[in-house]
Amino acid sequence: MGQNTLKIIIEAVAEEVIGHTEELTELDQKIGDGDHGFNMKRGFEAVLTDLPAITDLAVGPALKKAGMQLVMKVGGASGPLYGTLFMALGDALPEDPQRDDYIAAFGAAIDAVKARGKAEAGQKTMLDVLIPVHQALVDGANVAAVREAASAAAQATIPMLATRGRASFLGERSIGHMDPGARSSEIIITTVSNVLEAEQ
Ligand code: ADP
Ligand code: MG
Repeated sequence: MGQNTLKIIIEAVAEEVIGHTEELTELDQKIGDGDHGFNMKRGFEAVLTDLPAITDLAVGPALKKAGMQLVMKVGGASGPLYGTLFMALGDALPEDPQRDDYIAAFGAAIDAVKARGKAEAGQKTMLDVLIPVHQALVDGANVAAVREAASAAAQATIPMLATRGRASFLGERSIGHMDPGARSSEIIITTVSNVLEAEQ
């Protein structure tokens, strides 16, 4: 992807996440401590501040740098986890990556998040969106199908019992609410899909 597309994607993701601060806060108020919106806003504001330096780089190093901003600026569980996701994604990308390279790197990044958070699928976390979306990509999904997979996966966290992260402290009371990190992952994936569709 060209530098301009990279810039548009990172900027759009940051703006969309920041634009959903209130919704993410409300979701985290139901099954967490209510800081997910603010955490994500703070991290992506730092990414926007650093945007010129980030988009000067090739896509791999750029994602790595953005991930480092999230690790440094975001408190809570989600900063290190999203930071790990983007840093590992950037690390795994070759120069001039093609579709298959992005899918393989996304898989490696998900493995890094799993390792960092000692979590797996089905525990009501961001992984419950990231993993099905990765699977859809492996299965050859187009942009519309990827968006659909992300949205269905976020919805599917509602009936789940949380067994990782703060929501797990609630036990059965975590059932019946969408996981905030699943929703923020859906927002990020939807935004990337929208930009790629518009750029096609
Ligand atoms: P905190 O839980 O520290 O308040 P946030 O509210 O910013 O941090 O983020 C909460 C989100 O982080 C959850 O909704 C969940 O998706 C994700 N999360 C928490 N723990 C883990 C974990 N071990 N692995 C993957 N994702 C996790
Ligand atoms: Mg929280």
